[in-house]
Amino acid sequence: MAQAQNQELTERFIQFYRNYYRDAIGQLAQKYPNEQRSLYIDYDDLYRFDPDLAEDFLNQPDQLREYAEEALRLYDLPADVKLGKAHVRLRNIDRAVDIRSIRVHDDHIGKLIAVSGIVRKATDVRPKITEAAFECQRCGTMTYIPQSDGNFQEPHECQGCERQGPFRVNFDQSEFIDSQKIRVQESPEGLRGGETPQAIDIDLEDDITGRVTAGDHVTVTGVLHIEQQKSGQEKSAIFDLYMDGMSITVEDEEFEDMEITDEDKQQIIEISNRENIYEDMVASVAPAIYGYDEEKMAMILQLFSGVTKHLPDGSRIRGDLHMLLIGDPGTGKSQMLSYIQNIAPRSVYTSGKGSSSAGLTAAAVRDDFGDGQQWTLEAGALVLADKGIAAVDELDKMRPEDRSAMHEALEQQKISISKAGINATLKSRCSLLGAANPKYGRFDQYEPIGEQIDLEPALISRFDLIFTVTDQPDPEHDGKLADHILKTNYAGELNTQRTHVPTSKFTEEEVNSVTEEVAPEIDAELLRKYIAFSKRNCYPTMTEEAKAAIREFYVDLRAKGADEDAPVPVTARKLEALVRLAEASARVRLSDEVSEEDATRVIEIVRSCLQDIGVDPETGQFDADVVETGTSKSQRDRIKTLKQLISEIEEEFEEGAPVDEVLDRADEIGMGRDKAEGEIEKLRRKGEVYEPKTDHLRTT
Ligand code: ADP
Ligand code: MG
Repeated sequence: MAQAQNQELTERFIQFYRNYYRDAIGQLAQKYPNEQRSLYIDYDDLYRFDPDLAEDFLNQPDQLREYAEEALRLYDLPADVKLGKAHVRLRNIDRAVDIRSIRVHDDHIGKLIAVSGIVRKATDVRPKITEAAFECQRCGTMTYIPQSDGNFQEPHECQGCERQGPFRVNFDQSEFIDSQKIRVQESPEGLRGGETPQAIDIDLEDDITGRVTAGDHVTVTGVLHIEQQKSGQEKSAIFDLYMDGMSITVEDEEFEDMEITDEDKQQIIEISNRENIYEDMVASVAPAIYGYDEEKMAMILQLFSGVTKHLPDGSRIRGDLHMLLIGDPGTGKSQMLSYIQNIAPRSVYTSGKGSSSAGLTAAAVRDDFGDGQQWTLEAGALVLADKGIAAVDELDKMRPEDRSAMHEALEQQKISISKAGINATLKSRCSLLGAANPKYGRFDQYEPIGEQIDLEPALISRFDLIFTVTDQPDPEHDGKLADHILKTNYAGELNTQRTHVPTSKFTEEEVNSVTEEVAPEIDAELLRKYIAFSKRNCYPTMTEEAKAAIREFYVDLRAKGADEDAPVPVTARKLEALVRLAEASARVRLSDEVSEEDATRVIEIVRSCLQDIGVDPETGQFDADVVETGTSKSQRDRIKTLKQLISEIEEEFEEGAPVDEVLDRADEIGMGRDKAEGEIEKLRRKGEVYEPKTDHLRTT
């Protein structure tokens, strides 16, 4: 551009500032450079002032920004103020681009675009050298070399003596700027049916660094650039995309992307008034999976979730429900879990093993994202699912690091990371829907679940509902299951044949009628909107009747264990779970009140879950210890008795207590030889007894 034109553009910006940003610049002048170093320009203001100038800014951002900043330096300010290195940052531009749809033919390279998503990774903030001062060790002359991204540039020769150094970088004479790199990934709600989220890396500099952390939902305005990929020294023909961030805004985490039209709203309200609303909801979850009505109902309640309560003392009770399916392989757990993605307004589906270095929670890692030197904070599944649902299959296979972070993540709904100078608290206000297999492959009904899955009791107790899924042959059930699976598959066959074989002998009506039978009752897309709408608008409160019903159920359960020696039936955690579930039940029909029916509905679910897992298999009593410590009371008693027995007997024999003798006496006191044998084996594994000689025992 010609000199005159440059001046003209600078003049335009000065005029613009005078008309629109007089006060803002005055404030910047007062706070510069320590508290504020940028003038933020709203795109709408610039457009109103001069549409051509605004569009030029979008299309030639690097040049226009220079004029805008030059104008800022020339702007008439009080004599003693200089805005030497102040930035001009444009925001709220009207060129929002989906991360996954950035393509060359859209002609956005080198231009200003805005992307929205969730911060998946963020490096810590580190100084970056922008101009290096090389001091010649022979003659002392300083050679200044501007540094851009990429490799560190060194001088070919000294500007003074023209020899090749040696040089030393003089830090005082060099210029540095704060820098940070983040990776922004598409928001989970933007994805349909399990698409892999796409991401873009963004470089941030100076005053906009350190503003966001992993897990934040952001909109970034910046210049789209391309960079040639390299593997070692080899240059590739393929380029990478990245952005230079100009401004960054943290967005509110609600389902902002979910648009609900008036027409949708009408449909939603109509459905909510249906007589069979609860049955219809259940029939809308994974229709290809036969049965599991209770589990599906629980999944629905989880999707709607309870109300997050803020107490006057500042504390908070989570409204999100956590649910676990434990069971035999091949019982449809994975299928049900993955269906969540179709109906949850925001969801993340992953396996316990995790696909990223952050796993399920979060991690501070040192990888090539931050030049290999910088630490990067990376958000895992539970953070990415913030305000949504995290479906985690094979939860029992999660990594040890996740295990310990999980307790806090589930109850306090945050994850604290403190490592290598990174101190961060990430939000994980999500519901966890987990699936796990029993430790020894198949489920054993006569063992407490705590011993059968690889999750520690403290973690298990955080689940509001735990369902056990056993796979036992039962001719009647098996027949119905077979019919259902065959029907679903047949519908799939018909559908596929019709699309691929033009001469298919099946008519469209035939296909439709079969397909209809296995289709969800409420269309998945509408259900997503329904759920989002309800969570946005319904904040139900308990009626007296609902409170009374829950109270009675709880007190009654506790009373069963009131006997001094009896196991404690349930803990207060269950009570909160009941409240959450009942609130969710009210939300299903868009009600502001938790009715007695809501309470009864969820009491039935909780009772049946407790029966499946909380019951001490030997006494038939509810035993919270089974759930919360993994060992039932009768089992603990037995272990104690047996240890005592062994120590008594070993007194009588020189070489330790003979196993046969121990089993005989155990039998005498009614324990049974088999049970005793099993417990001895466990004691031996735990190292509480050992064998000084074959078939002899000693206590430690
Ligand atoms: P899991 O994760 O419990 O090991 P999967 O979800 O992988 O089991 O299910 C295995 C297969 O069996 C799937 O193809 C699933 O559709 C089918 N299946 C299992 N149980 C059912 C059921 N109740 N109804 C329909 N299909 C089922
Ligand atoms: Mg599975």
